Amino acid sequence: MDKETFKKYGYELVDWIADYFSDVERYPVKATVKPGEIKTKLPWNPPLEGEPLEAVIKDFKDIILPGITHWQHPSWFAYFPANNSPPSVLAELLTAGLGVQCMVWQTSPAAAELEEVVMDWLRDMIGLPQGMAGVIQDTASTATLCALLTAREVFTRFESNEKGFREPLRVYASQEAHSSVEKGVKAAGYGKENLSYIPTDGNYAMIPTMLEKAVVEDKERGFQPACVVASLGTTSTTAVDPLEQIAEICRRHGLWLHVDAAYAGTAALLEEKRDMLRGMEQVDSFVFNPHKWMLTNFDCSAYFVKDPELLVRTFDISPEYLKTGFDDQVKNYRDWGVQLGRRFRALKLWFVIRTYGVKGLQDMVREHLRLAQLFKGWIKEESRFELMAPVNFSLVCFRFNDGFHSEEELNRINHELLERINASGRVFLSHTSLKGRYVLRMSIGQRTTEERHVRQAWELIRREADQLFQEKFRGCCTGD
Ligand SMILES: *Cc1c(COP(=O)(O)O)cnc(C)c1O
Repeated sequence: MDKETFKKYGYELVDWIADYFSDVERYPVKATVKPGEIKTKLPWNPPLEGEPLEAVIKDFKDIILPGITHWQHPSWFAYFPANNSPPSVLAELLTAGLGVQCMVWQTSPAAAELEEVVMDWLRDMIGLPQGMAGVIQDTASTATLCALLTAREVFTRFESNEKGFREPLRVYASQEAHSSVEKGVKAAGYGKENLSYIPTDGNYAMIPTMLEKAVVEDKERGFQPACVVASLGTTSTTAVDPLEQIAEICRRHGLWLHVDAAYAGTAALLEEKRDMLRGMEQVDSFVFNPHKWMLTNFDCSAYFVKDPELLVRTFDISPEYLKTGFDDQVKNYRDWGVQLGRRFRALKLWFVIRTYGVKGLQDMVREHLRLAQLFKGWIKEESRFELMAPVNFSLVCFRFNDGFHSEEELNRINHELLERINASGRVFLSHTSLKGRYVLRMSIGQRTTEERHVRQAWELIRREADQLFQEKFRGCCTGD
């Protein structure tokens, strides 16, 4: 592609993205295509001769776009947000344009040093202890795997790396912990049987006395407790494990403490949300995702460690072809995680923090928290609906419950209610299961979500509930 063609389509696509940002509301939030539908529209074989970009862009619009679920839609209330933002997208374009590999300092000194600086900024922005050092990982899953691998090495005196894993080590997480903990435990060789799930209280937070009981019992049985994963903001309900008490148990028993704050870490931008970080001095590693709620497009996961030496010793490799003359003066992030090749992710984080400012990001989080409280108020006012978990951040867990149905029927009704709400294409909510109950999750955190979107969603939910109820009442479920 020549320079002029690149410019022509470059401008065209930037225009397209700008329009997408302003018009995304016009699309159905959740793709309505059927399984296999997109595939049938794509050729079996790649083209032998190159095609004009024009044709590819046309197919993008005609074939691909209808199969896209619009995460940047202001009525995105499913899962958690995965926000982008205009400055982040522009930085991503530059990153692609530069096409650098950030594996060691000399493969792009500015990338390595910018990563160090923005991670220090980020640490201070959310109030983590001064001594912690950060590195950008692709996802929280990878960061948690790094934590589990480091804990494994620390507890086997770095012998697992040399000889393989022998003695069984135990890992603890709450019953509400994210599935990435189980995945990490399997991948790091602990074995799923050595992951001990600790019961949670009425608010779905880990019960510290149950943690200590499990640790003591494991020791008595001759097992070696190694690592605790505490969740600040669980995926189901955003429950907050009591970090201070868990940290104290880890200190007493000499355990590695990893904190998964993938979504809720962003809330710590606000002083008033930092209570959850009490006990952080004792924490060995911490992860949160700017790619969820902090306007930095996927992927960008911030991993902080108390002792980078231990992390680097876990991953250190120095083949001859990667040695440089500066290795003792600089950070070579290749040794701070699993991957060798690394994207220049610090650039988009820097663009976002500089253009929004700490205050701009705080304002966004505060607004989302306000909207969640508003929605929670509506749920509490309506007798047919029931709040199902504390609203700690910007997620509201609720269900339809008019008091006339069994738990089993309620599960079926709420499942159908969610299907209908989402089939409207106007909003997208997801669900979870709490103590066997089917629960709807209203997750508010998209960059462009305003009060009117939350209000429209609430009206739609009530309307669908009315309709569902009437149809059931008439003993008819096909509709007219
Ligand atoms: C989203 C989430 C994760 C996984 O994040 P990835 O970056 O997609 O790996 C882990 N833990 C919690 C609590 C989450 O909400």
